Amino acid sequence: MRVLITGGAGFLGSHLTDRFLADGHEVVGLDNFITGHPDNIAHLASNQKYEFVQHNISTYTYVKGKLDGVLHFASPASPIDYLELPIPTLKVGALGTHNALGLAKEKGARFFLASTSEVYGDPLVHPQPETYWGNVNPVGPRGVYDEAKRFAEALTMAYHRFHGLDTRIVRIFNTYGPRMKLNDGRVVPAFLDQALRGEPMTVFGTGSQTRSFCYVSDLVDGLYRLMLSEERYPVNLGNPREMTILEFAEHIRRMTGTKSEIVFRDLPEDDPKQRQPDITKARALLGWEPRVPLDEGLRETVAYFRGIAASVA
Ligand code: UDP
Repeated sequence: MRVLITGGAGFLGSHLTDRFLADGHEVVGLDNFITGHPDNIAHLASNQKYEFVQHNISTYTYVKGKLDGVLHFASPASPIDYLELPIPTLKVGALGTHNALGLAKEKGARFFLASTSEVYGDPLVHPQPETYWGNVNPVGPRGVYDEAKRFAEALTMAYHRFHGLDTRIVRIFNTYGPRMKLNDGRVVPAFLDQALRGEPMTVFGTGSQTRSFCYVSDLVDGLYRLMLSEERYPVNLGNPREMTILEFAEHIRRMTGTKSEIVFRDLPEDDPKQRQPDITKARALLGWEPRVPLDEGLRETVAYFRGIAASVA
């Protein structure tokens, strides 16, 4: 296969690229580096099966040659990033998805949308199955991401139903691992950075809100399986091991042996109170199950962040 991956220099896009290349496929990576980074694809510079195009998918996009797949992963994805970039976030979910779908249609390629657990908003059903329609505030600060992704899902289904496009939709739950940005504000890099520096660890609210963290290699394995499956409707991918954010902070304190104290800060507006994927569908359909234990994934992530700190020093 020859596939295009938008957001190809991002955290997930770059790992997914590595997976396609490892399986012998050709990859065209596309990124405007708004939140992605050249370091994430530097190791591919001399790879004959890899091409990179610096471009904003929210503007008209054409890629030469055949494409068998278009995987749309471009978007700011951390709450801090999409609060700083509200309009680019809306545009890439709407216009970017439209351009990526149009390209897939033109090439007769399979289209794969990276959607998110954020479509469930602050969920009233727990854990969240794909059949739950969600509880999203369209005019709150997170609405720019949540509604863009909901629109992207609707547009993808419209291209499937109206144009007969071959489409896939994944709803990705909290994922962590190497190549996350240390300063992107998400809880895993934030806590690890604070713990490694011995600075206070900032728990938002009382820390009673829950999340479930999936290691990136597990997630990428699920993405790849979904791409090769025949399922047109959304599929959740994430790790069902749920914990409160306070438990998570304490876990990282123990694991890193840091002397950092835990401090409490205001809870961001519309911060979901609970989140846990129901992965019954992914298990049955893809034979997929997350395998990497939290401590193992965190150790790999710490090693990556220590490596970055050492190369900057
Ligand atoms: N959080 C926190 N301290 C931080 C960063 C995040 O307590 O320094 C909390 C945040 O309020 C949320 C959870 O951790 O409840 C996960 O936040 P993240 O930004 O990683 O992603 P989200 O799941 O909210 O999209």
